[in-house]
Amino acid sequence: MRALLAALRDAAKLCRLVQGNFLSASAKADGDHSEPVTIADYGSQAIICRALKQLYPDDAVVAEESGAQFSQLVSAEGLAQIVQLLSQVLRQDVSEAELIAWLDFGAGRAAARTWVIDPIDGTKGFLARRHYAIACGLLLDGRVAGGMVAAPGYNDGEGALFYTSDGATFKAPFAAGEGARVTVSSRHKPEDIIAAQSFERAHASKSRMARAREIAGLGGARILELDSMEKYALVACGDADLYMRLPREGSSYAHKIWDHVAGVALVQGAGGTVTDLDGGPLDFSQGETLPNPGMIISNGAHHGRVVEAVGRVMAE
Ligand code: AMP
Ligand code: MG
Repeated sequence: MRALLAALRDAAKLCRLVQGNFLSASAKADGDHSEPVTIADYGSQAIICRALKQLYPDDAVVAEESGAQFSQLVSAEGLAQIVQLLSQVLRQDVSEAELIAWLDFGAGRAAARTWVIDPIDGTKGFLARRHYAIACGLLLDGRVAGGMVAAPGYNDGEGALFYTSDGATFKAPFAAGEGARVTVSSRHKPEDIIAAQSFERAHASKSRMARAREIAGLGGARILELDSMEKYALVACGDADLYMRLPREGSSYAHKIWDHVAGVALVQGAGGTVTDLDGGPLDFSQGETLPNPGMIISNGAHHGRVVEAVGRVMAE
């Protein structure tokens, strides 16, 4: 646990170095569209998978990036940059072969314990110097069992590290130090509610979410827009009370498990509620994608009312 948290902190260090010195992106295919990817996505995944390989050599990993895609997309210059940065952050000489082996550690394997990694969640936010997260979640037999999220942009760039331990959720200083237990807020007055949602318009329907809040009597909520799984962390530590992810009209987007496992663990460990749009559980047992079209995450105060409102909005 300690070693994994240290790996997340190293990954975050590498991300900040890339942001400061080598920021550029390639485009990778994702279904019918393309998504940006940077050398920091690969470097971050390599660091986390390296730690998992040392700690849990027989476990399975589902991670967003792959060695094959890295070899195909990254230029000779990008390769030299990431090898140098990894060597610097890990304080050891890293080769291209090691990097690729780390990227693919545990991939395609079946095991009861599966680590689910998003090395940079919110790459668009990372590129635009907004919010992003580094996430490592844990599934046991297809059920969410734990998670860690580094959020470099938390609290105006102070950053924070969120993690679960023995079913509870903790928030630790970004660079070093132990965590303190956090729980969801007890805010319930409609006018006090703080709702978090995606910054990117393409990722969720802002109009449907506004309409659902209106119907649920939460039209006066304060809205926080930010990228990444940091939104789950905000609900977990009581900085936000509601986080909806409603699909845009006509969208058939299949949510990826690495965008959710760690975040769900944080919110559940903090006493919050996470459901699909119908109020049922999210299904993490179906491989890389979720069958659920959206998510509702909250401190529990208005959850039932929001599920009902979302049902009406989706039927409209
Ligand atoms: P957020 O910043 O919360 O919107 O989350 C970023 C994540 O949204 C990225 O990791 C993407 O995988 C995911 N994403 C990309 N396109 C879509 C889409 N059309 N609908 C929902 N999520 C998406
Ligand atoms: Mg992501």
